[in-house]
Amino acid sequence: MRTMRAAVLRDFSLGIQLEDLPIPEPKPNQVLVRILASGICHTDLHAIHGSWDKKPILPLIPGHEGVGIIEALGSKVTGFSLDQKVLIPWVGRTCRTCSFCSSGNENYCDRQFNTGYVIPGTHAEYTTADFRYILPLPKDIDPVQVAPLACAGLTAFETVKKLRSNDNKTLLIMGVGGVGHLAIQYAKEFFTRIIAIDPSAIRIAQAKLLGAETYSPEEWLSLNPKPLVDAAAVFAADPIAVTGAMNALRNGGTLALVALGKNK
Ligand SMILES: [Zn+2]
Ligand SMILES: [Zn+2]
Repeated sequence: MRTMRAAVLRDFSLGIQLEDLPIPEPKPNQVLVRILASGICHTDLHAIHGSWDKKPILPLIPGHEGVGIIEALGSKVTGFSLDQKVLIPWVGRTCRTCSFCSSGNENYCDRQFNTGYVIPGTHAEYTTADFRYILPLPKDIDPVQVAPLACAGLTAFETVKKLRSNDNKTLLIMGVGGVGHLAIQYAKEFFTRIIAIDPSAIRIAQAKLLGAETYSPEEWLSLNPKPLVDAAAVFAADPIAVTGAMNALRNGGTLALVALGKNK
């Protein structure tokens, strides 16, 4: 029996431990992927600590920002081939019949199986994944660089996609962390003015390099008059950031709340 090393969570009080496990067999709709890189998302910490109301199913291999190479194909897999590089995201499988699944919004499906939370994740040498939810990648792309796009990148892109419209030219981004700094880069395709606010000088410097107009919260508060924005996205789990974003919106503007606060 071929085995693999995997980070396994069996008990919230023990944390994750490295174990040797059998390499899984792909089911008909699955591919077997040899993992090259697996990003660490804050959700992994929530899984490991069991800190969300909806607990992960144990034992669990966390990880949902996976990049790897297909080593085996299930009998019903189409559109993918052996040795293909793929991205494995958070949404591992959904019901495929509800109104969300039928309209391309399967990330809202109530019956979704999340990678590294409900089904085995990517913090292992191998994993299996449903071919209908993985994405093909260019052969030469750097696995480490691209792995965070499987969760942080898709979250940022979906936010920008929902906020973009012909009427929306100015975007306010509250929080330039792992997701917010990617949102700036996607937003440059759709918005002519991007304002980014963050208390961290390092993050503000990065946001400026990425092309945003930047402010610390203090600078923004003292700005008079403040520009009104067409759309705002809050990536900081902070009620003050939410209030600040709402106050900055023009009449009829759009607000996206992305961060999960303690009192969600
Ligand atoms: Zn994540
Ligand atoms: Zn569904």
